[in-house]
Amino acid sequence: MDEKLKKLETLTPLDRIRVAIAQMHNFLVAPPTIPEIRDRMGVWPAKTIIALLAMVKKDVEKMAEKCNWNESAGGEYWQTDCGKQVVITDGTPAENGMRYCYHCGKQLDGKRYAEENANGN
Ligand SMILES: [Zn+2]
Repeated sequence: MDEKLKKLETLTPLDRIRVAIAQMHNFLVAPPTIPEIRDRMGVWPAKTIIALLAMVKKDVEKMAEKCNWNESAGGEYWQTDCGKQVVITDGTPAENGMRYCYHCGKQLDGKRYAEENANGN
């Protein structure tokens, strides 16, 4: 595998997006007919940028996934989709400003026990 791509895998999704935007920008603005300028600007080959965009696409799809947190019957804890039990002393995850599951990193969707039963679950 390309050394650049190996290094990209060690970055956070946000940093991969930053690199992708910078590379696409440089690729589009650097004159394709003047290789010296492209080299000086660090313009990557198109196939490397395409591979980077595939990584970013996967990152974005993962960010759109949700981790459901369902309140237990007695309200003692919240059961997460990713297999953890979380204790919140007062209110829902949203009421406590929690937007992402801190175990798996997905968007968090908290459902109260009563809400869950009203939906027929
Ligand atoms: Zn989770």
